[in-house]
Amino acid sequence: MAVADLPGLSSRANAQGSPSTSGNDLHGSPGRSRPDACPGALQTHPAADGAVARIRVPGGILTAAQLRELGAAATALGSGVIELTSRANVQVRGLDAEGEAAFASGMAAAGLLPSATHERVRNILASPMAGLDGRGLIEVAPLVRELDHALCARPALAGLPGRFLFALDDGRGDMTALGADVAFVPIPAPAGGEEVEGALLLAGEDRGLRIALTRAVPAMMAAAEAFLAERTAQNSTAWRMAELDDGPATIATRLGDFAGVTPPGHRTPVPDLSDMSAPPPLGLVSRPGRRATLVVMPPLGRLTTAQAYALATAAEAGDGEIRLTPWRGAIVPGISGADADSWLCRLAATGLVTDPASAWTGVTACTGRPGCAKSLSDVQADAASSTARAGLPLIGAQTAGVLPVHWAGCERRCGRPTGRAVLVVGTGNGYRVDADGRSLHYQDIEETAAAVATARRTG
Ligand code: SF4
Repeated sequence: MAVADLPGLSSRANAQGSPSTSGNDLHGSPGRSRPDACPGALQTHPAADGAVARIRVPGGILTAAQLRELGAAATALGSGVIELTSRANVQVRGLDAEGEAAFASGMAAAGLLPSATHERVRNILASPMAGLDGRGLIEVAPLVRELDHALCARPALAGLPGRFLFALDDGRGDMTALGADVAFVPIPAPAGGEEVEGALLLAGEDRGLRIALTRAVPAMMAAAEAFLAERTAQNSTAWRMAELDDGPATIATRLGDFAGVTPPGHRTPVPDLSDMSAPPPLGLVSRPGRRATLVVMPPLGRLTTAQAYALATAAEAGDGEIRLTPWRGAIVPGISGADADSWLCRLAATGLVTDPASAWTGVTACTGRPGCAKSLSDVQADAASSTARAGLPLIGAQTAGVLPVHWAGCERRCGRPTGRAVLVVGTGNGYRVDADGRSLHYQDIEETAAAVATARRTG
């Protein structure tokens, strides 16, 4: 579909005063005084280095052809880099006015912009390793498609804030700690197993609502509609369910009459999955009798066009798809076991991280200079040079005893990870390193790098 054919195109407008475009918006804030202005492909964000366009990728699932189109568009129209976000979406920055229109047209033609009215609300996370490693209880890809179609088919849900987040967990628990507004997580069936049942989590909370797998998507739609109704009832401009007064409780009450939802009192407990919200290990995932899976990560979540093309080529030798992860990685399923090592080497040759012990694991950074006018430093360059000089080979964050580290150009600390982490914040006169309640300031980048390396080691 060409972009000119999309309904609602005439409403194209740049988002003014948008919050960070560094791609992590998992952190809600109470007391919103204005509608959200998350960028999309049509409603872009004017940054210091040009417009930023964000493409929603439900479930993080892209075809090889779509990734090629993204790479080509990023090079021809933008900065040449595809930024991966913490919602497994993608964004391209550095677009000029002509480039914005051409980018949107290209994305529409590639099938990445199926609805102009709902483009910014298609925020759907899903367990990226579902069906690939023997863990989990269900396939999530069919649910992702069903949820996306149901969302786009309901005109009222175009009114959801661009921050509102859905999540579909395959039962391993990797989505449950990401704080989605509405999430479905299946529960292991009792012995003798009947129909698969799951919990409907609201703002990450288990309010005791249970639903059959076959009714999961309608229930999630009902929860989203209940959020909008409650927002109106409270005369609120909340972006996230947790920002409403007693948000999860009031939404759970509104869902009490929804057909198929088992109210509190008849519930099977959700297993404790709190320690399972971790990225899949980088490298090769092999299972006897099955095709292999490649798991890689671009440094700082910035995918070059060459890396995008290499991933697309690998995917064409596999199942034809790439799955992006909320940890800013990429997964290529369906690779022949005999060729898997060779493909991994080819991806590593483009600069993609394939070693779980790499010093790049667990290192993230906000946009910083020159893309963000608020930034006090070029945090991406400093994070890269610090990682290179910190002397942290073979103790990456996927090895026990090493904390993730996030670099930010100002106190907003956009993109900071959830949970325990080292934060490195630009001050205009060096960096402040925050870890475990202690803050130390350094003017010299070598001293900063050494301090970061020390702070990341917990063992
Ligand atoms: S410099 Fe500040 S406002 Fe800009 S992206 Fe980084 S943390 Fe956010």
